Amino acid sequence: MAIEETTNKGVSKVMKILVIGGGFAGVWSAAAAARVARENGTAGTAPQITLVSDSDEMVIRPRLYERDPGQMSVLLDRVLKPIGVERIRARVTKIDTAAKAVTICDATGQVRSLIYDRLVLATGSQVFRPELPGREFLFNIDTIAAADTLERHVQRLETHADNVAPESRFAAVVIGAGFTGLEIATELMGRLREMADAHTGRARVLLVDRCDEVGAQLGEGPRPYITEALQQLGIELRLGSEVSEVTESQVRLADGEIIPTATTVWTVGMSASPLTQMIPGERDGLGRLVVDEFLRVPTTPSVFAAGDTAAATVEGGHVTMQSCQYATPLGKFAGHNVAADLMGLEPVPFAPNPYVTCLDLGPAGAVLTTGWDRRVQMTGSEAKAFKHRINTEWIYPPVDDEDAILRVADYHFTWTMD
Ligand SMILES: Cc1cc2nc3c(=O)[nH]c(=O)nc-3n(C[C@H](O)[C@H](O)[C@H](O)COP(=O)(O)OP(=O)(O)OC[C@H]3O[C@@H](n4cnc5c(N)ncnc54)[C@H](O)[C@@H]3O)c2cc1C
Repeated sequence: MAIEETTNKGVSKVMKILVIGGGFAGVWSAAAAARVARENGTAGTAPQITLVSDSDEMVIRPRLYERDPGQMSVLLDRVLKPIGVERIRARVTKIDTAAKAVTICDATGQVRSLIYDRLVLATGSQVFRPELPGREFLFNIDTIAAADTLERHVQRLETHADNVAPESRFAAVVIGAGFTGLEIATELMGRLREMADAHTGRARVLLVDRCDEVGAQLGEGPRPYITEALQQLGIELRLGSEVSEVTESQVRLADGEIIPTATTVWTVGMSASPLTQMIPGERDGLGRLVVDEFLRVPTTPSVFAAGDTAAATVEGGHVTMQSCQYATPLGKFAGHNVAADLMGLEPVPFAPNPYVTCLDLGPAGAVLTTGWDRRVQMTGSEAKAFKHRINTEWIYPPVDDEDAILRVADYHFTWTMD
């Protein structure tokens, strides 16, 4: 059954769950709601679930620092079709919580409204765009398109370098020494070194951060391993520094230093999707909606938030990080609760697995920590193998298999590490 448009005033008896966003949180919200509907609904009483996303693909964002980022996605239809979730490809431009309606615009420019009984907002986050002279020369790896643009640029440096100064060709500057900056810097060092060796050139990667230490948010536990990896790879640090200008062939730092480089990557600052501003409710410093233990926006009870749009409290009173690690369970619990809410079932409080981080350090391996105090559990090639399994197995949804998708959609589900 097609979702009802607001222009059609006829009242349908079918309750409608609308999920906005086709990333980790949106896909798992829709799948968890489908699971609850399947287990508890009878024909005619189960809610109808529709997912709206502006892409046909679920992008595996945590892999966008790797080679071939254009391949890092899964077709949404391979996950949603087998479990009976309707999908609409369109951009949501407005949410009217009083009318319980959203305005969408499809690829042809056609605008229409969709109504809902319950909404899950799962439109993710975006990297900050700085007001920096030369910002048009900055690369980023926030979206699959942006990461692919960087990939093609790096490939061109190897083959078409006529207009590139030799000292800039295999040099990269990465702005931001946080999680994303460290992963792309170490990855680029491996790539540029391979290319430079083949062309008897010199590879150079510099990490610039206004903080005085690398991985400031990652804490002290993994820092010695990160610092050692950067030294081993020969990555240069400019800490306590800011970039004042970028051009096609160089970066200028605030202290006047000029760094020749053909490749400058910006990784600093994430904020929640601007659609969060259309939901009445409290927002945190990242623009995320503050949700209750059931992932509902307290002041707008028909709306739940999941993934990078939600600030939820977890163990020890900590607040979720914008990460795939939280987006997936946030999606599963929000989807479960939104369906339970409509079907008169008990909601379940958000209780994800304990906090873990696994940072890829390129050719120097990886570092795995557990807990909010980030105790190091694994380093080097052992941690790299663990990261590889996260990136190639655990963060991917099953496809084309209804039972497998609904089994993983259960909020109790966890991967075993055998
Ligand atoms: C380079 C990189 C490395 C990362 N590494 C890690 C890591 O190692 N570990 C980790 O846990 N996390 C990592 N993350 C973070 C992780 O990818 C995000 O936290 C996660 O993708 C958030 O999931 P989400 O579903 O909330 O949002 P997203 O994955 O961003 O999905 C949002 C969805 O909403 C859709 N959308 C947005 N706006 C609209 C609109 N107006 N209308 C319709 N659809 C819309 C988008 O198309 C997309 O489908 C990394 C992120 C990046 C960029």
